[in-house]
Amino acid sequence: MYDPSVGEVIATTQLCSKAQVNAAATAASNALLSWSQTTVSERADYLNAIADAMEQQFNKLVGLSALNSGKPIEEAKIDVGDAIACYRYYANLIVSQSTLTEVTTNEAGIRLLKTLAPIGVCALIVPWKFPMVTTSWKLAPALAAGCTVILKPSEVTLLPELMLGNILSAIGLPKGVVNILPGAAEVGAAITSHPLIDKISFTGSNGVGEKVMIQAAKGIKDISLELGGKSAIIVRADADIDHACDLIIGGIFTNAGQICSATSRLLLHSDIAQNLFTQLKIKTNSLQVGDGFDPDTQMGPLVSQQQQMQVQKYLDIAAEENLDCLTGNNVLDSQGYFASPTIYIEVPTDSRLWQEEVFGPVLVSTTFVDDTEAIRLANDSKFALAATIVSADEQATIEMALQIQAGHLWINEQQIVLPEAGWGGFKQSGIGRELGPDGLSAYQKSKHILLPN
Ligand code: NAD
Repeated sequence: MYDPSVGEVIATTQLCSKAQVNAAATAASNALLSWSQTTVSERADYLNAIADAMEQQFNKLVGLSALNSGKPIEEAKIDVGDAIACYRYYANLIVSQSTLTEVTTNEAGIRLLKTLAPIGVCALIVPWKFPMVTTSWKLAPALAAGCTVILKPSEVTLLPELMLGNILSAIGLPKGVVNILPGAAEVGAAITSHPLIDKISFTGSNGVGEKVMIQAAKGIKDISLELGGKSAIIVRADADIDHACDLIIGGIFTNAGQICSATSRLLLHSDIAQNLFTQLKIKTNSLQVGDGFDPDTQMGPLVSQQQQMQVQKYLDIAAEENLDCLTGNNVLDSQGYFASPTIYIEVPTDSRLWQEEVFGPVLVSTTFVDDTEAIRLANDSKFALAATIVSADEQATIEMALQIQAGHLWINEQQIVLPEAGWGGFKQSGIGRELGPDGLSAYQKSKHILLPN
C-alpha cells in the first residue's frame, strides 16, 4: 500500500490464497446457524460495540484512512463519523423490526404469519473510494439481519479495513461471523464464485460489476450492485451564483472527484453562464491541492498511480476532442498522484468526457435554455445515480427532481448521505439499494407460515 501524497510504500501485506478463501467460506457457513439464531438485541449490542470501539479509536482510524487514501483529514473525519452512524442506525432498526408478524386470517380460517430470515453467507466486495464507509453500508445490515460474511476490501486501501478486523476481534464477535480477506481480482473472483456464498453485494466499477454478475450466475446467487455514475448538477437562472459555485466545486472536487455520485456534468442556464464561469474559475483556482494531513489542503491526491493515469487518459482525450478548457487540464509533476481541478465548457454530449465516468477532478459543462432541456440533458446518460439542482424556486426544483432519473437528488445541497435514506441508482448505476430499510431488506428473505386458526 502507498501514501498517495508522496508515492511511497507504507505497508505490505500478503494476499489470500484460494485455500484461505475456501477456509473463510467454510467458517462463515459453519457460523451461520448460531449467529442467525442470536436475538435482535444481541446483534444490536454487537453493532453498537463496533460503533463504540470506532469512536474510541476515531483519530487512529481517521489517520490511517487519510494516510492510505490521501484524502484531506477533514474528509476522513466525515467518513469515519458516517461509518459509525451506519452501525448505530442498523442497531436501532433491527430491534424495531418485528421478528414474527401476523399478516391475515382469511375467510376459511387460515392464519398467515410472516417472518424475515437472513439470506445466508454474504460476500461483501468494496472499492477504495471510501474505506470503512462502503464497508459499513454492507456489513452493518448484513450482521443486523443475521447473515455471516466474507469481506474483501480493496487491495488499495486495506489499512483502515484491517483495523476494523482488530475491532471486531476486540469486541468478541463470534469466530467465523466476519472473515476479512485481503486480495485483488483473483481473490474477489474466488469469493464471488464460491458455492457456499448465498449473496454478493458489490460496489465498484461497471466493468468488474459485469464480471461479478457472471460469477454470481453459477449457483444462482442473490446480488446487489452499486456501480458508476455521471451525475448532473443543474443550475437554474434564478440560482445564487456564489452558492452555486460552492455546490459545483464540492460536488466534483471532494475526494478529488473519486466519488460515484460526483456531479461531474454541469448544466447551466445560458443567461447566467458567463457570470458563473468567471466566479467558478476564480474559486477553483484558489483551491489548495496538497497533502491530506496539511490542514489547509482542500483537495488531496488521487488514490493511486493507476488512477492518476486514468485521469491523464481523459485529459488526452479532451485534447484530441479539442474541448474548451476553463481551468486545470494537467496532472501535477510531483512524486504524489496529484491532478489539478479541471473544468471544460460547452462540451458536446457525444464527447467521451460527457458520457464516461472519469472518477477524478474533471468537470464537463454545457448550457440549457429551459427546464425541459435541462431534464433531457440530465437524463442523457447510461448512468443514473444522483443529481443536484440549484435554484431559488423550490416548487420548480421538486418538479424537476420528479423527472430526473436518479436514486438520490439534492436540492441546494450536495453529497449529503443519511443512513436512513436508501442509496442506489437506476440504469447502469446498479441493482438494489443500500442504507435505510431497503439496505436491511437486501440481506433478508421473507418466509410465510400458514396454519389453521
Ligand atoms: P473496481 O471495480 O476496480 O474494484 C472494486 C472491488 O472489486 C475491489 O475490491 C477489487 O479488488 C474487486 N474485484 C476486482 N475484480 C474482481 C472480480 N473479478 N471479482 C470480484 N471482485 C473483483 O473499482 P474501484 O476502482 O475499486 O472503485 C472505483 C469504481 O467504483 C468507480 O467506477 C465508482 O463509480 C464505483 N463506485 C460506486 C459506488 C456506488 O455506490 N455506486 C461507490 C463507490 C465506488
